[in-house]
Amino acid sequence: MPRLISRGEALQQIRAEGGEPACLMCAIRDRKVGPVYAVFEDADMLVMLPRYVRRWGHVMVLPKKHVTSYTQAGPQLWGRASALAHQAARMLERVQQPKRCYLASTGSSAGELTQTSQHLHIHVIPLYRADDKPRDIFSWSEGVYVATPEEWQELLQTYREAWPLSAVDEGCTTSAGPAAR
Ligand SMILES: [Zn+2]
Repeated sequence: MPRLISRGEALQQIRAEGGEPACLMCAIRDRKVGPVYAVFEDADMLVMLPRYVRRWGHVMVLPKKHVTSYTQAGPQLWGRASALAHQAARMLERVQQPKRCYLASTGSSAGELTQTSQHLHIHVIPLYRADDKPRDIFSWSEGVYVATPEEWQELLQTYREAWPLSAVDEGCTTSAGPAAR
């Protein structure tokens, strides 16, 4: 079972794994800060499992290009990242059956800090409790979950199987309702 560790313990582990890289997201992309569990990857994008999470099953979508603003990102790159985040959310709904998924592009406004980055990325986070609030999810003050390599591999395998299935339009509502005809 994933176990909860304190924020301090997590930060200590993260520093031991890769120090404090110039860009955390580029360092993840380049596999310089510990193992990367990639659900999906191509030349432009990486969809992976962050290894320090507030809720089990959290997925992150990362454009590989080092972009730190939406102006730099452009609509094509951000559109692709958003489409993958949508697919990831559908995958979480399929696999984890959460009460809700949060999608958020947060990141650091104060330069690179340990475990937060200026490099744009999207969090896809499953919520399991009716009383979960953004402040519970986006703060580490109550600790973070970590897991063993075997547990990460098991989750990764489940997600990789569900990933292609989560791209199809099964069960979705299209925008072309009666008013649009
Ligand atoms: Zn970067």
